[in-house]
Amino acid sequence: MRSLDDPATHYDRVTAAWKYLLGDDFHYGYFHSAEDPLEAATNRLTELMAECGTIGPDMSVLDVGCGIGNPACFLAERYGCRITGISTSRTGVEQASRRAQERGCEGRVSFLLADGMKNGLPDASFDRVWALESSHLMPQKDALLAECARVVRPGGRVVLCDIILQRDLPLAEVLRRARDFTHLRYAFGRAKMETLATYRQYAESAGLRAIELRDISDQTLPTFAHWRRRLESNCEEVRALIGEEGLEHFRASCDILPAYWQQRILGYGLMVAEKD
Ligand code: SAH
Repeated sequence: MRSLDDPATHYDRVTAAWKYLLGDDFHYGYFHSAEDPLEAATNRLTELMAECGTIGPDMSVLDVGCGIGNPACFLAERYGCRITGISTSRTGVEQASRRAQERGCEGRVSFLLADGMKNGLPDASFDRVWALESSHLMPQKDALLAECARVVRPGGRVVLCDIILQRDLPLAEVLRRARDFTHLRYAFGRAKMETLATYRQYAESAGLRAIELRDISDQTLPTFAHWRRRLESNCEEVRALIGEEGLEHFRASCDILPAYWQQRILGYGLMVAEKD
């Protein structure tokens, strides 16, 4: 039996509630102002990644960790690319497939149950590989980057955004912060964050060349206040879906994380890497 915090189990369990808490994008927003609507900010992060990854018409894109398919449909509609989305969450893949049909983009967008650390897809079969907030959930990040490097064609790009570690956390500090990590693990699933420098090392060991590393912690910070507000406005629905305990862990996480961002323990980063 898989434990509750295993990412596949976790996402199957929280997907319905997260639509109330996060919306259709299961990722952070990129804010110009803290009052920007959340949806505009999450779309802006997708656009930023697309621009950094130079996604264009008719390119084939692999979306590793596709959530409920909103970024993939958005990319296909906005940039005219073709996308295969993969996830280990069956619920996510089912909902993403339904979304693509409802939006009439199922000809350009498809979804499969597959693991980003061993995806089973053919070598050099994509122009771009995209990983938006999924890598922190993968324990073998070297395997993830190796798979990204394997399936992208020469001259193609891998573009990755995720929560990052901003500095080393000594064991004593981890133990001191154990309560925080319990809330975070319950709210977001089992995860391991790395620094942008470590992501670069993984990319380069996999034969990719990192061409951009960008810290966007400040621009993502307002996300937590938006999640917190959505939680308070949708308490009843969220409680019915993930219980009082689930609600409390999520609420606590929205209070813990801004301090981690401000103290530069955690943050948010973007990496673009190219295959020569
Ligand atoms: N990129 C999406 C979802 C981010 S949430 C969005 O921006 O909306 C993280 C996603 O990664 C979820 O869909 C989860 O099921 C998926 N995931 C977690 N571990 C994975 C793995 N090992 N392989 C593929 N997908 C994974």
